[in-house]
Amino acid sequence: MGAPGTHETLLDEVLAANRAFLDGDPAPRPCALGAGRFLLLTCMDPRLSALLPRAFGVGPEEMVMIRNAANRASADAVRSLCAAFFVLSAKEVFVVGHTDCRMAQWTAMDVLNALAKAGVPRAALGGKDPREWFGAIGSARQNALDAARAVRACPVLPAGTPVHALLVDSGTGALEVLEKGYGRDTTRTPPPAAPSPGVPPPISPPPELDVPALAPPKPPAREPPPILPSPVRKPATGLERAADVLRKLRGRKP
Ligand SMILES: [Zn+2]
Repeated sequence: MGAPGTHETLLDEVLAANRAFLDGDPAPRPCALGAGRFLLLTCMDPRLSALLPRAFGVGPEEMVMIRNAANRASADAVRSLCAAFFVLSAKEVFVVGHTDCRMAQWTAMDVLNALAKAGVPRAALGGKDPREWFGAIGSARQNALDAARAVRACPVLPAGTPVHALLVDSGTGALEVLEKGYGRDTTRTPPPAAPSPGVPPPISPPPELDVPALAPPKPPAREPPPILPSPVRKPATGLERAADVLRKLRGRKP
């Protein structure tokens, strides 16, 4: 990947390596600026498995790919990115969508047909829209941009960590920069103001993550107080009346 020291940023180095790859120089070479690991959030598409390391000009062992259907910044994907960032000493994050993503082409009818063919009832989707349940996307470009912004907003990544949004051509490996991640730490969501004492903060996940909002806890149902029977004075029996008279007589001073 390029001669060491000739590029200002890691992204510049990646793009230079990508040009070399497209020119027919696929041999992975060490990267000067990226010493450590290249950390990617990308799609499950098997075409990317061998293509992406070559397109970045690095060896497969230098690239950590967190993958799911359509490179969504789900809560677990962001958790894994953060774990890889700290455990494997990454410095920058690349969210890489790709052209011809099947998750952008899967129609609701395709999903339902696939389920029916496999004998899975539609009720298994729990009433959700078929494409929504599987996380299908509308546009690979917009999805990569959205995912990069969601990753940037994660408060566990150190402030200022560059998170780039790229699109790779699934056939040629050509990289296109959709959004550079440098100098974008100001987009980080400010922490919420401290709650006043005695008022518990509302429980809600970060809006960028694909997590359904948690419903506020329901207050315990108040049951009406039990209706106690009013004390009923029973008529005193003859023996009780006699004992009462005796008690009064004993208490009387001679
Ligand atoms: Zn895909």
